[in-house]
Amino acid sequence: MTTVGILGGGQLARMLALSGAPLGLRFLVMDTAADACAGQFAPMVVGDYRDERALAEFASKIDVATFDFENVPAESAQWLTERVPVFPNPRALATAQDRLAEKTLFRELGIPVPDFAAIASRADLDAALARIGAPAILKTRRLGYDGKGQFRIRALADADAAWTALGAQATTVGLILEAFVPFERELSVVAVRGRDGEFRAWPLTENWHVDGILSASLAPARADAALVERAHGHAKRLAEALDYVGVFALELFLRDGDLLANELAPRVHNSGHWTIEGSETSQFQNHLRAVLGLPLGDTRMVGTACMLNWIGEMPDPMPVLAEPGGHWHDYGKLPRAGRKVGHATLRADAPGALAEALARVGAALGRDTQVAPVVARLQMR
Ligand code: AMP
Repeated sequence: MTTVGILGGGQLARMLALSGAPLGLRFLVMDTAADACAGQFAPMVVGDYRDERALAEFASKIDVATFDFENVPAESAQWLTERVPVFPNPRALATAQDRLAEKTLFRELGIPVPDFAAIASRADLDAALARIGAPAILKTRRLGYDGKGQFRIRALADADAAWTALGAQATTVGLILEAFVPFERELSVVAVRGRDGEFRAWPLTENWHVDGILSASLAPARADAALVERAHGHAKRLAEALDYVGVFALELFLRDGDLLANELAPRVHNSGHWTIEGSETSQFQNHLRAVLGLPLGDTRMVGTACMLNWIGEMPDPMPVLAEPGGHWHDYGKLPRAGRKVGHATLRADAPGALAEALARVGAALGRDTQVAPVVARLQMR
């Protein structure tokens, strides 16, 4: 009997546990919140990730550890590796936790990035703004997610406001200034690397964000073979450089034919949720296979798929369930503003049929604006 330990007990851990059940796996989830939603499917250790007693209990009951949450303290991940195999490795985790380390690595690997500068003081901000120019985005180096910990500098005169908003964090989590990319599209590569170095990537996904939170994903993204190959090549180089094991996502901006890397997510990713129904092997199943050293499953798609995120509260499931390719995922969370509480995936054999299904669901749920950009993209094919 193999028990997989997951640090973090949110919807990603929950979907990992669901996809691992057919493999006969057991799970143990560690989270600081006793009501974390993965706890509905797996036993839990409730405790702070820095609490050695809780970590020791967790380590004593598992065969391998992985993450649903990348902001587990690097020291805790390191402590665990001295007791059980941990995938991805703590160096990969630490790199992905720090926007500066991550962008520096991208650049070293020849993966293009928006211009950036480390900011430790107000003088650094002024100097970086003078070099990079406006518009730009000031971000916390660590602990930012879903657009949190970010300030958009539209004009140089916004520097004061940006410093008021985030300056105090320059000495705690650190800051980075990035050039604002007026991108045409946002894309992501979701990929997996096995313990033996085997690498596989799912088809490129196009993503739409609202208020910094993922709203919709479409796969395959409309892209020519050369662009897909370039994106997959970036992901492969990154995975090899970090000796990465498991699933990860590389978020990219497309601008004038260039792909600029924004972020590495060292875990299964929201833009890969469509793989549950839309591909031969889901990101969750392949992540478990990777960390356990099992053969990886095929990542090819079956038709075309769109994932719609439900933020704040769950809508009525009926319009999605009434669709032939409609799939519902309720994370079992209490409603709360800005919280990811579930998603739906619509799958169809042809883009036209997917566009029609999306339009029906959008109209029935009053979510026309959420589905509109995806429908427009599908109609461009
Ligand atoms: P992040 O937390 O870095 O993934 O940022 C969340 C979202 O903010 C991204 O998905 C983009 O939509 C937007 N964003 C972040 N960085 C930039 C940038 N340098 N230029 C333009 N938009 C950005």
